[in-house]
Amino acid sequence: MAMGAPRTRTHLSADALFRMLRSGFAAIDDHRPGKPDIALTDALMSALAMFSLKAPSLLAFDRERTEGNLQRVYGMQRVPCDTTMREILDPVEPEALRPLFQHVFRALQRGKALAAMVFVQDHYLLALDGTGYFSSNQIHCESCLETHHRNGTITYRHQMLGAALIHPDRREVLPLMPEPIIKQDGTDKNDCEREAAKRLITKLRQDHPHLKVIVTEDSLSSNAPHIQALQEDHLHYILGVKAGDHASLFERVAAAERAGRVTYYDRDDPETGLRHRFRFVSNVPLNESHADLRVNFLECWEWDQDKIQHFSWVTDLRLNKGTVYQIMRGGRARWRIENETFNTLKNQGYHFEHNYGHGYQHLSVVFAVLMMLAFLVDQVQQLCCPLFQAAWAKWGSKRLLWEKMRALFYAYALESMQHLFEALFYGLKKSATPLDFDTS
Ligand SMILES: [Zn+2]
Repeated sequence: MAMGAPRTRTHLSADALFRMLRSGFAAIDDHRPGKPDIALTDALMSALAMFSLKAPSLLAFDRERTEGNLQRVYGMQRVPCDTTMREILDPVEPEALRPLFQHVFRALQRGKALAAMVFVQDHYLLALDGTGYFSSNQIHCESCLETHHRNGTITYRHQMLGAALIHPDRREVLPLMPEPIIKQDGTDKNDCEREAAKRLITKLRQDHPHLKVIVTEDSLSSNAPHIQALQEDHLHYILGVKAGDHASLFERVAAAERAGRVTYYDRDDPETGLRHRFRFVSNVPLNESHADLRVNFLECWEWDQDKIQHFSWVTDLRLNKGTVYQIMRGGRARWRIENETFNTLKNQGYHFEHNYGHGYQHLSVVFAVLMMLAFLVDQVQQLCCPLFQAAWAKWGSKRLLWEKMRALFYAYALESMQHLFEALFYGLKKSATPLDFDTS
C-alpha cells in the first residue's frame, strides 16, 4: 500500500467480511445429496459477488474472463453458470441466511464501529418499513403474494419488511435480516406487513436479546396490537400518527390542551435558521377501543423561512423540553430506510427491482436477502473504511464508483477487494496485470 494510505479496521474490511460470510455460507446445510460439482457455498458466494459488483444480470458476469478474480477476491472455488446458480439457490430457505447478518453485526460490535450509530443513552434507532420489489402477471413462485382480479387475471408480488439501524446525523444505514412478506406455509391467505412486523420483532429479540432499541416507523404502525408487541419485547418506539387516521387521539390531545395539560416549547436554531415549535402531552389513550394503552404525544412545526412542515408521533420516551428536539430528530430519521436503503437499492446501481431469476420456491427471496447482505457489506465500508470513502469521494457518485469497479474487475487480475479499492483511488500502476494474461 502506498505511503499515507487511509487505514481501515482490518476485521471490518470488505475482504475480512467476505471471508467471514463465506464461512457462514459453508455452515448452511446443502439440500442436495452426495457431493455435487458446485458447492452451495460457491453458489451463494457467486450471487453475493454479483450484487457486490452490481452486475445487472448473471450474463453480465463474464465468467470466463473474471473467474480468477472471483476466486481470489470472493474466495470461490468453482464459479457456477447462471442456470446452475439459480437451481442450487431456489430451494435454500431464506432463514438460513439470518446468521450471516448476525456475524456482520457482531464484527461491528467488536470493532466498536456501532458506537457511531448510538442515538441516545446506549440506544440505537431501528427503522422498520415495508417495500415491494417484484410484480408480474405471469412469473410466479410458491412464495408470491397473489391479487386475484375480477377479470380472472392474477398479479403476483413480493414484498419485504426491512429493518435498519439508522442515525439522524449519518447517511449510513446498517440493515438487519429483513422479514420477507410472502405466502406463509400451509395457508392460502396473503401475508401482510403487520404480520411480518410481529415475526420480525420476535426474531429481533432472539437475535439481539439485550440490544437497546428505539423502533421508528410510519403512521401505519401506530396501532394497539403493534405497540403492545413492542412493549412486550422491551422495545421503545417513536411512531408517526396522522390526524386523519388517529382522530380520537387528536381529540384527546385537544381536550388535554383545554384542561391546561399540554406543554408548548419554541426553539430557534441560529446556525440553521430553523424554528421549531413543539406541543406535547404525556399519558393519553391511543384510541377509544384501547383506552388502557397510554402513549406520549409529540407534535412539531418547523419553519424554514416561509416554508412550514408539520409532524406528529406517539412514543413511550419521556417528553420534556430537554428531550423533544432529539425525539423529533429520531422520528424524522425514519425516512432513511426509504431513502438511504430502498431507494439506494432500487436506483443507485443495485437493481433491487430487476428480476435476476424468480425460481419456483425461494429464489426470488434468497436473491433479495443476499442483495441486502451485499448492501450491508458496502455500508460497513462506507462507515469504517477510509479507502472506500476516499474512492467514493474521488469518483463523486456511487453509480460511477460501481461502474469503475466493474470495469477494473473485468479487465485486470486483482488480488483482493483492498487491491480493487486501491486501484479505484490511486489508479492501477504496478501490480495489476491485464486479465488476458491471467486466463490465457
Ligand atoms: Zn414469487
